[in-house]
Amino acid sequence: MGILEVKNVNKRFGGLQALGDVNLSVAENTCHAIIGPNGAGKSTLLNCLVGKLIPDTGSVMFDGQSVLGRSPHEINQMGISRVFQTPEIFGELSVMENMMIPCFARRDGAFRMHAYKDAGAERDIIDRAESVLEDLNMIDKREMTASSMSRGDKRRLEIAMCLAQEPRLLLLDEPTAGMARADTNNTIDLLKRIKAERDITIAIIEHDMHVVFSLADRITVLAQGTPLVEDTPDKIKGHPKVREAYLGE
Ligand code: ADP
Ligand code: MG
Repeated sequence: MGILEVKNVNKRFGGLQALGDVNLSVAENTCHAIIGPNGAGKSTLLNCLVGKLIPDTGSVMFDGQSVLGRSPHEINQMGISRVFQTPEIFGELSVMENMMIPCFARRDGAFRMHAYKDAGAERDIIDRAESVLEDLNMIDKREMTASSMSRGDKRRLEIAMCLAQEPRLLLLDEPTAGMARADTNNTIDLLKRIKAERDITIAIIEHDMHVVFSLADRITVLAQGTPLVEDTPDKIKGHPKVREAYLGE
């Protein structure tokens, strides 16, 4: 039994079957990659896991509890954090202020920026945010305005914001999209380290096969809303169905 169990999930948008009978089991403390061509339904699937979309049918269980019918916030409090396909940071705010938002959201579900100024009362949360920034080599950027950072650093900040919530399941939607090679390699190293050092399960949607093969323990290939094959990276590499559907051969 995986920490995440998706069973027979279907999702339609009008006449379009975005997900058709999706089954997915993600084992605890592994990294599971979901790959597939554009429009395959990868982001839709992720949205169904975090309560942003509700499947038409099927079940989604996290650690033995159903996530369906819960709000994104409640699902977040269950221990699932997510990095979106397009960065969702507050450009006007500093790195540290950005870090505060998910910390407070996880703890008491409220946006309480003023608490950052009133440091004494919230020392535990500030300590946690600072320790994640230190861990990710970003502590020297704590007062930087988020919008002035490089694309790679913005992505790193988003990952830091998720980690500050101490999630059990981290969901990443194309975390290296649009990144320069050096930033991509830094992100691979960072995720490898997170995986090795933390008690965390990672599900990652990723186009860059170098990233996928560097990180994944298992890979699910999604095509036209349906899992085509699920296997280890080595098996996936040589799979004829994958080459046909994904590499266009
Ligand atoms: P992927 O992330 O694999 O590229 P998506 O999950 O974003 O694919 O999209 C799967 C399909 O569903 C696509 O054909 C997309 O156009 C469609 N789709 C996604 N979201 C919506 C929506 N909110 N309304 C209508 N169609 C959508
Ligand atoms: Mg997508």
